[in-house]
Amino acid sequence: QVVTRFAPSPTGFLHIGGARTALFNWLYARGRGGKFLLRIEDTDRERSTPEATQAILQGLSWMGLDWDGDPISQFTRADRHAEVARQLLAEGKAYKCFSTQDEIAAFRESARAEGKSTQFRSPWRDADPATHPDLPSVIRIKAPQQGTTVIRDQVQGDVTIRNDQLDDMVLLRGDGTPVYMLAVVVDDHDMGVTHVIRGDDHLNNAARQMMIYDAMGWPVPVWAHIPLIHGPDGKKLSKRHGALGAQEYQAMGYPAAGMRNYLARLGWSHGDNEFFTDAQAKEWFDLSGIGKSPARFDLKKLESLCGQHIAVSDDAALRQELEAYLAAAGKPALTSTQGDALERAMFCLKDRAKTFPELIEKAHFALASRPVEPDEKAAKALATVSDGMLSELTPQLQNASWTRNDLEATLGAFAEDRGTKFGKLAGPLRAALAGRAVTPSVFDMMLVLGQDETLARLRDAAG
Ligand code: GLU
Repeated sequence: QVVTRFAPSPTGFLHIGGARTALFNWLYARGRGGKFLLRIEDTDRERSTPEATQAILQGLSWMGLDWDGDPISQFTRADRHAEVARQLLAEGKAYKCFSTQDEIAAFRESARAEGKSTQFRSPWRDADPATHPDLPSVIRIKAPQQGTTVIRDQVQGDVTIRNDQLDDMVLLRGDGTPVYMLAVVVDDHDMGVTHVIRGDDHLNNAARQMMIYDAMGWPVPVWAHIPLIHGPDGKKLSKRHGALGAQEYQAMGYPAAGMRNYLARLGWSHGDNEFFTDAQAKEWFDLSGIGKSPARFDLKKLESLCGQHIAVSDDAALRQELEAYLAAAGKPALTSTQGDALERAMFCLKDRAKTFPELIEKAHFALASRPVEPDEKAAKALATVSDGMLSELTPQLQNASWTRNDLEATLGAFAEDRGTKFGKLAGPLRAALAGRAVTPSVFDMMLVLGQDETLARLRDAAG
């Protein structure tokens, strides 16, 4: 069974890069009936905060990336990590090193002065334990000294590292706390992780992590180190490129489905497919489709995909997500009357908006209550109709049966009577019904508003 994991360090919000890493792991597992686990790498006690953990969990929930079981706190597993270090010590695959920081620094300095390698070689590696002093020590792994280590990476290909480049890394510090590298390996092993998909900034760690797998005789997971995300200018994504937090995109009103689709395409491809559903993404996602070069973040593409996802969404689901957006963005909630009107109007709104704020702007006619204040453009449109036009129209609409056909016929005949085209009436009608110049079609609005509300708004506008 495939088991993937997302292992964020809780030192800040969920950023776009992390969201994409989580998404890739989620897609890989979900497409294969596997498990997607969450591990909070909170061993850095200075920088880890519970608020950051909450923000990351919320970001993942918004993205719709559900994980299996409870999130695992790495910090709480420190005893288990130490146990593995001691096991390696007992098996002679690790050793106690009594060299002090000062001694190591002095060694490096003289090596540098002599132009030699500054890689520290502990004199304790092969020391007889009988000669050990009664002093504090760290536990170091015995790194292989000959040959090479090959990381068989599914994205980067085979990455070969000369073993004489690897140092006897510390596993357990003098105070008995495990190092991060040990924690990651032990946790991935104990969690049964089969595939490690993460940023390629961790590629160098993989070589060192492999030493621990090998020493323990544990199977090495499949690695896939994915290129980082760059900004549109090709430079590493940073604050100056705009929003970095996944939840900032929620607050800007991008639908999660569009976000998933966009982030999936960011560094991964499946033929020419740009727009796809979650089901398709789960079916198609594979490590072989991940590109080797950094993907560039492109807001236009994100918006276009978001628009397409809004257009195909179910009306009730869309309403729910829009209401969640309002809450996340700290905007006033809809009343239930407004929510119902919005849902009824959704059919004529959803193919016209790329974000929720756009959708709300287009929905103004359905959300507004009487008297509907015209904005500047709408006021101008209203000023173009002759006195009495709107009040003459009202009795005709009173007799209409309020079907699209009947409304079209009624308004067409009315325009003809007045020797004009319906197009000329549309502007003022939009203005009267919505208080806006840009709206869904007049007929759609009338159908959503219903006869009484439509007539009342026309009467209001007629003055
Ligand atoms: N905690 C690491 C990070 O946030 C991820 C480590 C890993 O995936 O192995 O970058």
